[in-house]
Amino acid sequence: MKYISTRNSFALVSGAQAVFKGLSDDGGLFVPERFPELGDLSRFCDMKYPDLAYEIFKLYLTDFSDGEVRNAVNSAYGDNFDTPDIVAVPHLTDEIYMLELWHGPTCAFKDMALQALPHLLTASAEKVSDGKEAVILVATSGDTGKAALEGFRDVPGTRIMVFYPENGVSEMQKRQMTTQEGDNVGVCGVRGNFDDCQNAVKEIFNNSEIKKKLFDKNMIFSSANSINWGRLLPQIVYYIFSYVRFLKDNIIENGEKINIVVPTGNFGNILAAYIAMEMGLPVNRLICASNSNKVLTDFINTGVYDRNRKFTATVSPSMDILISSNLERLLYLLCGRDDQIIVKWFGELKQFGRYQVYDDVRGKMGKLFYGGYCDEEGTIRTVKEVFDGYSYLLDTHTAVAYSVYKDYKLKTGDKTKTIVASTANPYKFVNAVYKSLTGESPIEKDEFKNAEIVEKITGVKMPAALREMRNKPTRFSKSVEREEIASAVLEFIGDVK
Ligand SMILES: *Cc1c(COP(=O)(O)O)cnc(C)c1O
Repeated sequence: MKYISTRNSFALVSGAQAVFKGLSDDGGLFVPERFPELGDLSRFCDMKYPDLAYEIFKLYLTDFSDGEVRNAVNSAYGDNFDTPDIVAVPHLTDEIYMLELWHGPTCAFKDMALQALPHLLTASAEKVSDGKEAVILVATSGDTGKAALEGFRDVPGTRIMVFYPENGVSEMQKRQMTTQEGDNVGVCGVRGNFDDCQNAVKEIFNNSEIKKKLFDKNMIFSSANSINWGRLLPQIVYYIFSYVRFLKDNIIENGEKINIVVPTGNFGNILAAYIAMEMGLPVNRLICASNSNKVLTDFINTGVYDRNRKFTATVSPSMDILISSNLERLLYLLCGRDDQIIVKWFGELKQFGRYQVYDDVRGKMGKLFYGGYCDEEGTIRTVKEVFDGYSYLLDTHTAVAYSVYKDYKLKTGDKTKTIVASTANPYKFVNAVYKSLTGESPIEKDEFKNAEIVEKITGVKMPAALREMRNKPTRFSKSVEREEIASAVLEFIGDVK
């Protein structure tokens, strides 16, 4: 299996190169040259999660040995998760199933990929890095940062530096990152939003002066953001796993289509669902849910992508994004793998903050994808509504997804069984959850006190991994302007002027 850059169809690389490089030199993202067929899904019925992950990974990482893939899946999906199945799929009604993806060490769905990525990356490094140390740069809207730090901490041959928007993450998310342990980690706040962080990091990746400095130190950049194929691949697995679970439990018939609702930011999670569909997962609609930063809703409905708008800091901060990187992959696939069109559109995005896709691309997208959004009030209302109705506690991101699904259902009357991707544990965003349940803003500044009150109201326990944060000392308190991100990186690699 080879991988192709979305901006140059002639740039073919191996799986190891795609994972190790993260981003193509031309600024494009790597896409597999084809999508292998899953075949009859019932053959996966008795597989445990790591075994299914093994099967899927093997289809794409053909340059990895069986032992390397086996090691990756076994190390990634074990008792570092607090449920033996790795994911849980409770239902609210006969139609609505919650795919809980937050049972890993940092309580957000990012663990599903970032527990595996370090193993994939170190195996890749052995093949292609020439003994260079991998410097992993991460821009985070909150959850990727912690999950990547946890995944890469003290992994030999790597060091990792995370940039987060100082005022754009929840208190718990910030605490999780600034208390991170490990000798190869760095964390830095940025006085800007997620897009600023992501743009700065992408530019550093392609800055030849900085790359040369790294080269001289026998280092090389890599990425743990969802632009890395090694992030997307593990995310394909849980959609297949939940479908197969439904088959086994006789909830659906073999071949029956399902809907998948995904609270979306950088378009990674929903793209993984799309890829699963391309491989043969029976899907009716992919429902793309946005918060007030509804660039994607507008794009799906009009074919115009326009980031020229006000950026809103919301109670679902991991989705506060105006440039959804992985959309580039979808568009590349929908326009028949035409790299020149992608160069044109994404050039326009960079220059004017806007592009418009052709009608046939918009048509294809609209047939499969439904785009909707939920504002702040709606998010807060939904957490309470679902708790009152089903005694089920949603986090704010999943609440956005649920609310958009409800609108979809009202509009279409579609009775297809539906999976809602549940992307974070509610205690990561406890102040908003508190407000939703009590109708009042929390009086306490201390989120752990608020968590105790939420526990009392709901009977839902805060996970131990978050509770532990309370007494951890802060290790990283630095913050910089966005223009200073590059020099913070140089400092981190020991190149201080
Ligand atoms: C990252 C994140 C999202 C958005 O996922 P994308 O793959 O970026 O679209 C949604 N919810 C939570 C809790 C997240 O951490």
